[in-house]
Order: sequence, then structure tokens, then C-alpha cells
Amino acid sequence: MIQRHNALTQRAPTNMPPPAQKRDKDRAPTVPDKILDTERNITYQRGRFLGKGGFAHCYELINMSNNQVFAGKIVPKTMLIKQYQRDKMAQEVQIHRALSHSNVVKLFHFFEDKYNVYITLELCNRRSLLELHKRRKAVTEPEARYFTHQVVTAVDYLHDLKIIHRDLKLGNLFLNDALQVKIGDFGLATTIEDDERKKTLCGTPNYIAPEVLNKDGHSFEVDIWAIGCILYTLLFAHPPFESKSLQQTYDRIKKNQYIIPSNSSPQAARLIRVLLAPTPNQRPTAKIIVRHEFFKSGYMPTRLPVSCLTMVPKFG
Ligand code: ADP
Repeated sequence: MIQRHNALTQRAPTNMPPPAQKRDKDRAPTVPDKILDTERNITYQRGRFLGKGGFAHCYELINMSNNQVFAGKIVPKTMLIKQYQRDKMAQEVQIHRALSHSNVVKLFHFFEDKYNVYITLELCNRRSLLELHKRRKAVTEPEARYFTHQVVTAVDYLHDLKIIHRDLKLGNLFLNDALQVKIGDFGLATTIEDDERKKTLCGTPNYIAPEVLNKDGHSFEVDIWAIGCILYTLLFAHPPFESKSLQQTYDRIKKNQYIIPSNSSPQAARLIRVLLAPTPNQRPTAKIIVRHEFFKSGYMPTRLPVSCLTMVPKFG
């Protein structure tokens, strides 16, 4: 990290306000109507509210000199008082800013003012696969093929760069106006050295792999597991290990207990089975998965109509 981004790189000065209370994360941050990136001399107009996550509130930010619109991830400095909070955000930005792929949300700049740290991101206007899933429930196999193939392509790119995302889930698979999938939120991402197995994960991934639950050491294969859960959820409208309680879900993950509905095509069933292999080294790499028979065994749309966010598309 370079020195000028001092909210993320310097220790909190002693005259900072007292540590943020838990409820601070739910409170809307103070976001000025006009936001100035002094370093680049860009003024943004704050636009509509896009959503909020664990740390951040997101607004449209409009570059006032050319009307370019970005998604602005805004983190109040009150959320960055503890050193580990700064470290975590610095790590997220450091990993994310180096990425350039058509299926990964582009991170443009980050800067700060008196109140907040700002990250400008590629705007994904059509929300995420989570909203699509909630609205549509099960999607058709061609749609699942279209979305999942893009995710696998992006994951292959990340893994080539020795990056694990570690929290692939429908809500982190954003959609732009052309309904292209863009992987976002690198809050749990990490880089991995040759043959390294990560021992800890600071956070709770949605589609948690058995080796993470068992603390066996984990690596790239956790993303492959998550892709299995994503494909399953898209096709069958609920996650593979869903149960009444989190404890029971974790038990089922550890026992690899899930059922593939009988209406599944054999190719989709076979792909899900290898993605959800209980032992990490039995799961294929992203590079192998892009060529799986599932992606060649039926219609693969090159694009989808926006109407498929709410309705079953008619193909052909
Ligand atoms: P956090 O890291 O705090 O969890 P997220 O990255 O999940 O924050 O972002 C919070 C919310 O902001 C998302 O759920 C989504 O509604 C919105 N959002 C995030 N990134 C984008 C984007 N690139 N384009 C449009 N909306 C976004």
C-alpha cells in the first residue's frame, strides 16, 4: 500500500473518536452530496442508493466532468478504527485493484475524505444472481449454463493469479445491463503461495466447504465447491445442504449429504457431483471445468434478455 491512502495504512491517531459500536454498521454513513477525489481532481455527484453490505454502503457516483457513472462503495472511517479492520480493507483493495477480466467487477480508484473511504467500481445495474434466484426460483439449464460458465471463466483467471475468492455466492455475482456476470466483493479473498494450505478464514462464507469446517487447511478448491453450490441452487431453487438450522447444515456438509433432483440432466448431475466432491483434491480445477460436457451438452446462450430477471426466457 502506498502511503498517501492513510486511512488504510496508518495507525489510528490517538485523537480519533471512540471505537465504533456494533450498531454503527447499520447506520447510514455521512455521505456528502458532492464527493471530491482531491488526488485526481475528480468531483462526483452522489446518485441513488444501491445497497449495503457488512462494511459498506453503496451509491451511484457520477463523475461530474463527463457523467460517467460508477458504483461507489463507501466505508465510514468509524468502521476503520481498529487496525485489523484497516488491514482487512487494505487487503481487499490490494487484491481487487490488480484485477482485469470481463467477468470480474472492475475496481477503478480509491480515495478518502473527512468521513469515509471511497472505492469506485464498475456499476452493475441489474443487481445480482441472488435477486434473480429469489424472483425466478429454479432457472432453465441454458441459463444456468450461461451464468455458471462465466463464473468458472473468472475463477480460472483468479486461480491463475493465485487468488482464492472464498465467498462465491449468488449475492456476490453481480449483473450488468447486458446480464454479464461480474464477480465482486473480495472481502474474504486471499493470495496463496505454492502448495500453501490456508489454516484460518476470518469470516463466514455462505457456501462453506467441508475442509474449512473441519479446519483441515484449505485452498483453491473452496471456490470450486462454492461453484457447485451456486449451480445446484440456480437449477433446483435451494442450496444443496439447506436444513432447519446452521448446525444441521454443517453436519450435512461434513457428511456430503445432498440429493440431486431426478429432473436434472445427467450432465448437470455429473458436474455437480464432481464440484461437490467431499475431498478437495477430487474436485476438478476451474481450467478443467470450463470444458465440462455440461457446457457443451445443450443450448448455451451467448446473451440473455433482461426479461429473464423476472420471467422464463423462450429460446430459439
Ligand atoms: P460489503 O463488502 O460491505 O459486504 P458489498 O460489496 O456486498 O459490501 O456491497 C454492498 C451492496 O452494494 C451489494 O449488496 C449491492 O447491493 C451493492 N453493490 C456492491 N457492488 C456493486 C456494484 N459494482 N454495482 C452495483 N451495486 C453494487
